[in-house]
Amino acid sequence: MAYDNENIFAKILRGEIPNNTVYEDENILAFHDIAPKTPVHVLVIPKGAYIDMDDFAANGTAAEIGNFFAKVGEIARGLGVHEQGYRMVTNNGENAGQIVPHFHVHIMGGQKIKEGSMARGMNN
Ligand code: 5GP
Repeated sequence: MAYDNENIFAKILRGEIPNNTVYEDENILAFHDIAPKTPVHVLVIPKGAYIDMDDFAANGTAAEIGNFFAKVGEIARGLGVHEQGYRMVTNNGENAGQIVPHFHVHIMGGQKIKEGSMARGMNN
């Protein structure tokens, strides 16, 4: 499957769709989810064109991957969710219900997440 340049996060990266930015550098953008499932619900994406976690892990450089996850940790600390805890989720592909085909992780915190609930399942 080829990367779709018209996916919503590609449009956000090109500035065609606005976002509520939490953090940005030359490699990474973090922004608030448009439909938050928890009081803090932030999406973190690499600026590189990766479809999903599988694509990122297989085709990202070690530096890119290491830097990305180090930044996810920094962003979570910046959001203040690290002490009480947070869930970091990535939906990879169809069976996981991935909606946007640009690799992203969800940082979800600010409340106790019920045992067994998933990124999208906790309020329904
Ligand atoms: P996933 O692909 O992992 O299932 O989730 C995609 C996430 O992107 C969802 O939580 C959804 O609310 C969020 N989302 C979809 N479109 C937009 C958008 O245009 N802006 C923002 N900020 N979030 C979006």
